[in-house]
Amino acid sequence: NRHFDVNITRRDFPSLAQKIHDKPLVYLDSAATSQKPLAVIESISQYYSGANANVHRGSHSLTASATNRFETARKTVADFLNAPVEGIVWTRGATEALNLIAQSYARQNLDQGDEIIVTEMEHHANIVPWQLVAEQTGAKVVKWPVNTKTCQLDLAELDNLLTQKTRMVCIAHISNVTGTRNPVETVIEKAHQAGAVVVVDGAQAVVHEKINVTAMNPDFYVFSGHKLFAPAGIGALYGKPSLLEAMPPWHGGGKMVEKVSFSGTQYAQSPAKFEAGTPNVAGAIALGEAIHWLSSIDRKGAEAHIAALQNQLIEGIQGIENLRVVGLQNGASVVAFNIDGVHHSDIATLLDQQGVAVRSGHHCAHPLMNALGINGCVRISIALYNTKKDISHCVAAIQKASDLL
Ligand code: PMP
Repeated sequence: NRHFDVNITRRDFPSLAQKIHDKPLVYLDSAATSQKPLAVIESISQYYSGANANVHRGSHSLTASATNRFETARKTVADFLNAPVEGIVWTRGATEALNLIAQSYARQNLDQGDEIIVTEMEHHANIVPWQLVAEQTGAKVVKWPVNTKTCQLDLAELDNLLTQKTRMVCIAHISNVTGTRNPVETVIEKAHQAGAVVVVDGAQAVVHEKINVTAMNPDFYVFSGHKLFAPAGIGALYGKPSLLEAMPPWHGGGKMVEKVSFSGTQYAQSPAKFEAGTPNVAGAIALGEAIHWLSSIDRKGAEAHIAALQNQLIEGIQGIENLRVVGLQNGASVVAFNIDGVHHSDIATLLDQQGVAVRSGHHCAHPLMNALGINGCVRISIALYNTKKDISHCVAAIQKASDLL
């Protein structure tokens, strides 16, 4: 891979060249969804222009080649996570993958009184599915509180929470609000010693670090394509093949069966067992393309670039009166903040008027907002295609908004 150069990388993203309110777009909302490189956009168009067919059925040439590309993309995802290909299930995204684990694994394996530890910094997608399955099984969701000073999790707290009743631990690899990177490797070790299964939400992590599920050893790891330069509507679940094999299906329909009759149905093997219905073939192929695109980048160089931009941003906003950073994590790709006495959504609206796209609100993390005693915040999230100029524009725009409000 050639040395990372943002000016070269940026050229791959046509959407970044547009204007918003007559100002050059400064896109700083990549934690919500990333922009897409041309290679990914073209792969979707090429698929529908010349390769579209349903997969895993029929015997004509197009269906055979679509199936082949669809399964090759699965192998690309498996290699990307250093997982065995039998461990990869296509889903619509992280949310669907978490619901699959809850409704297939947890619903089958949890009983009255069993405990699911969920951290207080989770996205709602890694909280609500556990609450639903707790209601169905009589299990209990146990909160692992966040240290509100550091916006990190204390491992000593986990030692207190792990009991003989603990069956599962659910944790984000990287927080979508503060960018906190959780020590998932240690969490997994501790949880396994206590006999619990670990679910890692990698939605924010896959884009920023090399994932190796074989070394990390989670039982389940999930992510969404759309935060990884791929389209929305495709994502993946990694599950240990031994667990997937033992899990019942959660959706019924075509493709997930060996044989159907009114006297009983025989299910297909995993992962087909979890993939009822016609899948998002173009999405899967495009996700494979996004991973190939990312593999052509010097990722270490890209992360150093992002960290330098985060540093520039932190320094730039330091002087802005009454601005408080929420749970600052040095070296992360996000900075969340509030300005005392000003509503976060007003700041985001004023930034938008200056062409700067950021996210404001609760970031689907009500429990974390409550713990921090705020009703929301502005989140700036940086991707490898952002530039120093983006950051200086953003800092100037925040200063201007703060002067106006
Ligand atoms: N977990 C985290 C940490 C996230 O940031 C997100 C997306 N904001 C999700 C889960 C849910 O992902 P999706 O909406 O793509 O299913």
